[in-house]
Amino acid sequence: MSQATLTATHPVPLNSLTDDEILFRDNIRQFAEEKVRPLAREMDEKAMFDHDLIEQFFQLGLMGIEIPEQYGGGAGTFFEAILAVEELSRVDASAGVLVDVQNTLVNNALLRWGNEEQKKHYLPRMAADTCGAYALSEAGSGSDAFALQTKAELKGSDYVLNGRKLWITNGKEAGLFILFASIDLSAGYKGITAFIVEKDFPGFSVGKKEDKLGIRASSTCELILEDCRVPRTNVLGEAGKGYKIAIETLNEGRIGIGAQMAGVARGAWEYAAKYAQQRKQFGKTIADFQGIQFQLAQMATEIEASRLMVYNTARMKDAGMNFVKEAAMTKLFCSQVAERVTSLAVEIYGGYGFTKDYPVEKYWRDSKIGKIYEGTSNMQLATIAKLVLSGK
Ligand SMILES: Cc1cc2nc3c(=O)[nH]c(=O)nc-3n(C[C@H](O)[C@H](O)[C@H](O)COP(=O)(O)OP(=O)(O)OC[C@H]3O[C@@H](n4cnc5c(N)ncnc54)[C@H](O)[C@@H]3O)c2cc1C
Repeated sequence: MSQATLTATHPVPLNSLTDDEILFRDNIRQFAEEKVRPLAREMDEKAMFDHDLIEQFFQLGLMGIEIPEQYGGGAGTFFEAILAVEELSRVDASAGVLVDVQNTLVNNALLRWGNEEQKKHYLPRMAADTCGAYALSEAGSGSDAFALQTKAELKGSDYVLNGRKLWITNGKEAGLFILFASIDLSAGYKGITAFIVEKDFPGFSVGKKEDKLGIRASSTCELILEDCRVPRTNVLGEAGKGYKIAIETLNEGRIGIGAQMAGVARGAWEYAAKYAQQRKQFGKTIADFQGIQFQLAQMATEIEASRLMVYNTARMKDAGMNFVKEAAMTKLFCSQVAERVTSLAVEIYGGYGFTKDYPVEKYWRDSKIGKIYEGTSNMQLATIAKLVLSGK
């Protein structure tokens, strides 16, 4: 297996952060503890994200981390966006994914593929007050995303879009959608085109919101396009090249989901470790038993490995290296670890862990999505297999 290598004069450990990154992370950690944690259970129960919290995300600069200063953003790095997703997810995975989709999918797509007019028009809004969503999946096209059936027909200066999108994260809150439709279904993936669609465009509406197992506060919605008129100038990148935008944006997004899962695992572990040191059975705390110690040690080791994968892949992206294989591995592994760790956390709490009076069952429910969205585990394995078997 060949390995792309970046030479460095002074290599540093994978978990080392700059002073600015430490400050950034600590601010978000404090915010997550003070503002997000008190709301997490209620938002999960109501399956509703707190609107004021989203406003605070904007005020803190969390919704435009990488957007350059000239467009009103934080001019930060992809790595910082990843730190934000990890820290928020440690407290609430729904908060993590809201910020993740905004930064790693929507803003990234606009930054990378938008023309100057589009950047000037949309990026300041993304940094200030507009939530974004990324709409690729449909009822009949999930893993086989390029089998999408939403059509876009050019009529005068507008494209007219017809079809339905399913499972769209932030669907309820979003004002802007990066939405994929085909300008020529007979051309297969070469017809796929990315459009910037605003919530208020005529013919656009948000349909059913899903009632889910986990990340319940994150809205997951159907989008309905009935003769939806989108100005021709709102094609993102080139017409017919949307498949490239979808693939490349999702490659970056997968690092974000890795970070979300690393955060979820860490949040559950912290609860389990604390509980184990308080709960007494047989006259001792359960953390005095080697059986529990070994479980906590194994969980901590796996969390460390996931986090190092996330950090390394994010650094590769910021360094301009090819990270496709590493991003797929990161998402695959972090979601496996999150499911194992959160499940064990429920067991360490015993019967209490199985109730909604304690926080760990939510972490377990929230972990499950990591293996499904932005490409299922099988799809990650397919990508990894293709690359490693061809020597990349
Ligand atoms: C909560 C949530 C949020 C989401 N957010 C978004 C979003 O914001 N935007 C968006 O566009 N989409 C979103 N999705 C959609 C998500 O990306 C898809 O659900 C996912 O890609 C899987 O597609 P599917 O559900 O159609 O499953 P299918 O593709 O039908 O897969 C079903 C099973 O078959 C397996 N499978 C399929 N093909 C193969 C194969 N070739 N080899 C081996 N196994 C295979 C899969 O691994 C899976 O286990 C979201 C989904 C959920 C549940």
